[in-house]
Amino acid sequence: MKKILSFDIDQTLNIAKTPIPDEIAQLLINCLDYFEICPISGQKFDQFLIQIVNPMLKNGVTTEQLTHLHLFVAQGTQYYRYTSTQPNEHPTPSATTATKSSDNPSYDEQCWHKVYDFPFSDKQVSEISHALETAAKELGYWEVDKLKEGDKIIENRHTLVAYSALGQKAETEAKYAWDPDHKKREKIVKRAKEIAPNYSYSIGGTTTIDVVPEGVDKSFGMTHLMEELNVEKSNILYFGDMTQPGGNDYPVVEMGIETISVRSHEDTAYALRGILGVLDKKS
Ligand SMILES: [Mg+2]
Repeated sequence: MKKILSFDIDQTLNIAKTPIPDEIAQLLINCLDYFEICPISGQKFDQFLIQIVNPMLKNGVTTEQLTHLHLFVAQGTQYYRYTSTQPNEHPTPSATTATKSSDNPSYDEQCWHKVYDFPFSDKQVSEISHALETAAKELGYWEVDKLKEGDKIIENRHTLVAYSALGQKAETEAKYAWDPDHKKREKIVKRAKEIAPNYSYSIGGTTTIDVVPEGVDKSFGMTHLMEELNVEKSNILYFGDMTQPGGNDYPVVEMGIETISVRSHEDTAYALRGILGVLDKKS
């Protein structure tokens, strides 16, 4: 019996780095009535709010439903959940969005509670940044001239270091065109791994490489998810677009968790409509 639907974000629920479409928001809201919903990705907490929570609020999610949404941030090295009764005493990192939602007046962003957190040391961050920058420069892929103002290629996300070849703010089209066959990123990873071997590098999204200490990938997040939600592998159904060896969803497949490989959010919507169709008939 599946209790958990868990999702990669970029390319699985959305077009990379953009808010989930209304259709996906609506399907996820409907799923919250039957399952615990657990997005897990290399993104920061703020991006989870912008890409997932805000579109769900716009589509009418209730605060009760939000208590069944579990955010596994930065590959699950941080875990946040919404508690409508216990406002967070330690406010979460400030988000770029309003703290109240006009779409749901009872929603309060301060009610996101950080359950756990495994931060990086400064030394680890500088080792990884050095390896990525050196590798990209050697290979001629250091695209610093293409960055928008205030944007950067390497970002310290506290529990994960993310390399985004064209920065966070690049146009979607440019991102899709940059490395469609992953070859550039595979070369960067190979070289960076020689410079800083004690880390695990995974290719995700369109221009991204996520770096965490060896052993910290989505399987780390999934293991903690099972512990926190008190479920077995067999209770989880996972959706991801990078389920091939080397992809950032592959560690979940390797764990033996049942996985649906999707090409895009359209495939995910198709699968969710099927799941909900069966459940709606039963109830
Ligand atoms: Mg993805």
